[in-house]
Amino acid sequence: MTQAFLYRWSQKSTGKWYEGSRTKKNCHIDDGYVCSSKTVRKMILENPSDWERTILVIGTPTYIRDLESTRLQMLDAKNSSMSYNMHNNDGLYNRLGTIHSDVTKNKMSKTRTGRKRPDQSKFMFDNNPMKNKDVANKISILKTKNNPMHNEETRKKVSETRKRMGLSAGYNNPSLLPQYQMTCSHCSKTMGKGPFVRWHGNNCKNQQKS
Ligand SMILES: [Zn+2]
Repeated sequence: MTQAFLYRWSQKSTGKWYEGSRTKKNCHIDDGYVCSSKTVRKMILENPSDWERTILVIGTPTYIRDLESTRLQMLDAKNSSMSYNMHNNDGLYNRLGTIHSDVTKNKMSKTRTGRKRPDQSKFMFDNNPMKNKDVANKISILKTKNNPMHNEETRKKVSETRKRMGLSAGYNNPSLLPQYQMTCSHCSKTMGKGPFVRWHGNNCKNQQKS
């Protein structure tokens, strides 16, 4: 099933961003697609840790394409100094989505300075597909379907593992179980393995200096 989406790539070192849409048949947010700009794609692949992707909206291809166009016209991305988008899709926009190239825009830096909500934030809110019950239901069903915890076999395995570890319901941290506690020979405190390794044993500040 096709799960079209609008995304934003943010470059951590500069605060700059690139926005685009993915509307291809059978696409989804984890299909490995990077972005529609060759230049930006190259930058991301060369230095992935400097980039972060945010999924802005998920919806039908038609909805996403319309949203993308509207945002471009509203935000004028090609003229924003913070944007890597080179054009606003004006005239280059392909209604069939085969070209659907570069996209939209906003002014994230403004939110940091405590000024009023940027227009596009309100826009995204007003156009949030989750406000549409049908869409919300569909997304919810999709999430349920793809959630491994809704698979009987997975649940059984998890349950067996938990039993083996002695974890009771609502008790999720094995390091708190008595059998995983460690006692420091220097200060006699008892704790989980993490703090023990970091702060006690050979690192204990109470150990006798010989
Ligand atoms: Zn200690």
